[in-house]
Amino acid sequence: KTPQKVGIIGSGNWGSAIAKIVGANALKNPDFFVEEVKQYVYEEEFEGRKLTEIINEDHMNKKYLPGIELPENIVADPDLISTVKDADLLIFVLPHQFVPRILGTIKGKLKKGVRAITLIKGVNFIDNKLVLISELIEKELECEVCSLMGANVANEVAQEQYCETSIGYKNVETGVLFWKLFNTENFEVRIVNDVKGPEICGALKNVVAIGAGFCDGVEEYGGNTKAAIMRVGLMEMKQFAQMYYPSVQTETFFESCGVGDLITTCFGGRNRKCAEAFVRTKKSWEEIEKDLLKGQKLQGTGTAIEVYEILKNDNVIDKFPLFKTIYKIVQGKLDPEDIVRYDQLD
Ligand code: NAD
Ligand code: 13P
Repeated sequence: KTPQKVGIIGSGNWGSAIAKIVGANALKNPDFFVEEVKQYVYEEEFEGRKLTEIINEDHMNKKYLPGIELPENIVADPDLISTVKDADLLIFVLPHQFVPRILGTIKGKLKKGVRAITLIKGVNFIDNKLVLISELIEKELECEVCSLMGANVANEVAQEQYCETSIGYKNVETGVLFWKLFNTENFEVRIVNDVKGPEICGALKNVVAIGAGFCDGVEEYGGNTKAAIMRVGLMEMKQFAQMYYPSVQTETFFESCGVGDLITTCFGGRNRKCAEAFVRTKKSWEEIEKDLLKGQKLQGTGTAIEVYEILKNDNVIDKFPLFKTIYKIVQGKLDPEDIVRYDQLD
C-alpha cells in the first residue's frame, strides 16, 4: 500500500491541537502515512511576524494554541492549493462559515480518490434547506467524507488529557484508516457507522451550550437548572437529527460525540463562556467574541440562527421549544431568564 499524504485545512485552536496528534501519528506510522503533513494557515500577522513563519520556525501556533509544541513535520502553508493538491487525506477543521469559499477554491484541483474528514461543528442553510458540511464537501469535491466529533475541548486535548472521540464512517476501511491517523493513548477514538449523526450532534450541542451559558449568567439558576436545559437539549438534538436523517442511530447519542460532547461544552466550552458574558455584560456578540476569544470564532450563535431558519422554513419550529427560546435570547427578543420557560412560550 502507498503511504497516504495528509493535508490539514485550518489552523485555529482545534486545528492546531489536531495537527499535534496527526503529525505525531504520521511520524509513527510511515507505512501508512507520508511524514510531511501540510497545514493550510489563513495568513495573518502575530506579534510582528507572519503566522506561517512562527509555526514553521518555532513549531508552535502562538496565536491560537500558545504553549503547545507542534511536531516538526507539520508544515504551515499560506497557499491553500499547494496544501491540498497532493493530499490523499484531507482534514477539514475551520469555522463553518468559511467552508463554502474554501471548497470553491479547491474544487477540481485535488488528486483523484482523495478522501476527507470533517471536524467542523456547524450546519449550512442553503436554498431554504439544511445542508451538512459533510454533504457540502461530498457534493463539491465528489469524494468520500467521514466525520470526527467528540468531547474534545482543544486546549485539554493539546495538553494530552485523556478523552474519547468518535469517527463516523460509511466504508469501514476508511474509518479504520482515519482511526489510525487520529487514535493515541490519550485520544481514544471509537468508530461508528454513521457519518451524519456525529456531525449533527457536534453542530447542535453548540446551540445547547449557548443555552447553558445563559443559565450560568442568571444568578438564580444553578446546576439543576442547567441539567434540565442539557436534558431537553439532548432530546431536541436527537429529534432534529432523526427527523432530517432517519438513518441516524440512537446509539450515536451515547457516544463521545453525543452526550459526552454536550457535557464538556456546557461546562468548559467557548460558547458557554460567551453566552454567560452576554448575560452579565450586556455587550454585543461581536464585542464578546473579540474580547474573550481573541481571534477564535464563536459558532453557536450562528448555528442557533441557522437551525431556527431551517425549522421555521419547514414549519416544525414549535416542536423545538428550547432551540426556539435560545434563538430568541440570542437575538435579544427574550430575556436570558426566559431560558427555562421554553415550554410555556407561544
Ligand atoms: P478557531 O475558533 O480558533 O477559529 C479561528 C480560525 O479561523 C483560525 O485558524 C483563523 O485563521 C481562521 N480564519 C479567520 N478568518 C478566516 C477566513 N476569512 N478564512 C479562513 N479562515 C479564517 O477555530 P477552531 O477552534 O480550530 O475550530 C474549527 C472547528 O472545530 C469549529 O467548527 C469548531 O466548532 C470545531 N471544534 C473546536 C474545538 C475547540 O475546542 N476549539 C473542539 C472541537 C471542535
Ligand atoms: P466550544 O466551541 O464551545 O469551545 O466547544 C468546543 C468543543 O467542541 C468541545 O468538544
